[in-house]
Amino acid sequence: MPGDAQTIHIVVAGGNYAGLNAMQQLYSTLLAEPRATTAKVQITMIDRRDGFLHYIGMTRGLATPEYGRSLWIPYSTVSWLQHPQITIRQSTVDHITDTYVMLEDGEKLGFEYLIVALGVGRHAPIGVGAQTQADFETMLRETHASIQAASTVTVVGAGAVGIELAADVKCVFPEKHVQLVHSRQQVLAGPFSAVLRDRVEQALAHMGVEVVLEQRVVGQTPVSGDMDGAEAAGDIDDNRAARLPELIPATAADAELTLADGRQLRSDWVVRCLGARTRPILRLPAKGLATGIHGIRVRATMQVDDARYPHIYACGDACAHSPVKLAGVAMHNGFVAARNIARCVLMGGPRAADSLLELSPDFPAKILLLMGRSRCAMQVGDEVWDEEQTRQYVFDDMGLAQCVNALSLERTPVASSPFDQLPSPA
Ligand SMILES: Cc1cc2nc3c(=O)[nH]c(=O)nc-3n(C[C@H](O)[C@H](O)[C@H](O)COP(=O)(O)OP(=O)(O)OC[C@H]3O[C@@H](n4cnc5c(N)ncnc54)[C@H](O)[C@@H]3O)c2cc1C
Repeated sequence: MPGDAQTIHIVVAGGNYAGLNAMQQLYSTLLAEPRATTAKVQITMIDRRDGFLHYIGMTRGLATPEYGRSLWIPYSTVSWLQHPQITIRQSTVDHITDTYVMLEDGEKLGFEYLIVALGVGRHAPIGVGAQTQADFETMLRETHASIQAASTVTVVGAGAVGIELAADVKCVFPEKHVQLVHSRQQVLAGPFSAVLRDRVEQALAHMGVEVVLEQRVVGQTPVSGDMDGAEAAGDIDDNRAARLPELIPATAADAELTLADGRQLRSDWVVRCLGARTRPILRLPAKGLATGIHGIRVRATMQVDDARYPHIYACGDACAHSPVKLAGVAMHNGFVAARNIARCVLMGGPRAADSLLELSPDFPAKILLLMGRSRCAMQVGDEVWDEEQTRQYVFDDMGLAQCVNALSLERTPVASSPFDQLPSPA
């Protein structure tokens, strides 16, 4: 492995939408056809988990564990990932430098090329701490049981995730009192129109979700794991908690919330959906590169935005390229990064193919909100779509089959050249 001068080590850190799509392209451009030039390539994908997780379905999965179970697809079932030049390391990344990936178990993996695809961190249960399919199913069952046992459920934070979670709970348990508390004047963060926000608020009201706006939660008893004053969860130190917020639950049972206007809300189960965090993992000696709150700055080639590191790429939610994080964009980023690395490998080095690297297009800000089974709202760029238009993009399985197909999780990708013309993104 690392240290062997002949071998070209490509490491993909993170194996979900961005990382797996990068793996698929690396497989199809470098490994699918045995060639002398690529025989020395070794590709390692590192992930804490033992499988792909279709995040898009998480809120429905928590409300409906039978559906939730389908969201996890073990890597061991994906035939092409078993190629002898691919290694899957189920391990946790501690930090990354410009030459190696340091794992929590103390092992250092050197690389000639790296793709960082570690996403963003969210507190549990939306952020998933489980490392195996069995633990994931246990988490779904336990969370579902807590929701089921509650008469009043409160979701704090009406971003896209909070909205979908409140709606999914209300849809599955119409008899429960579901409250959605938000500090701003309207629901939904991000560059979206007031028309879309109105539609979402109307849909929630129609479903019977009580939306409490312009109220910050200033107190909560008992506190949840993500709040100041919470007891440390097990042996998690601050550094690990920042890297892996999914290990810390943002839920509390039998809670009393105090709102900014002094009102008290009682709730049998509270979940705080207060946004995602950049993981502080990439340690490069370049000011401002890795540490921004919006993620890693990248070029259109998906290389990190510093000419000293042409061999390091970052993809998906981990990068700062867009205010709205989307699975489709993450997959496309992985596609471009992997093809660019394949070009470099075939041309003889990270600088040899400089002028030949592909560029990722700018994607318009887009959002599709699924509120239970019957309500949806969508905006693409500046345009708010009507419900009928939006329905074309709503699938019963929340896009699971589409992603399984796009990532080739049930078939083997065919060989392709990284110099083939780039198909335009969907
Ligand atoms: C509830 C919810 C609903 C969503 N709905 C939509 C939607 O409708 N449409 C849409 O396009 N997008 C949606 N998204 C956003 C979408 O899920 C993300 O854009 C997408 O997951 C980004 O993919 P990624 O590969 O960059 O990161 P991720 O999918 O987060 O993958 C990161 C991978 O890195 C691994 N990892 C992280 N840290 C470490 C570490 N330290 N060591 C080892 N492995 C690590 C993780 O286990 C994971 O497998 C939704 C997100 C949520 C939470």
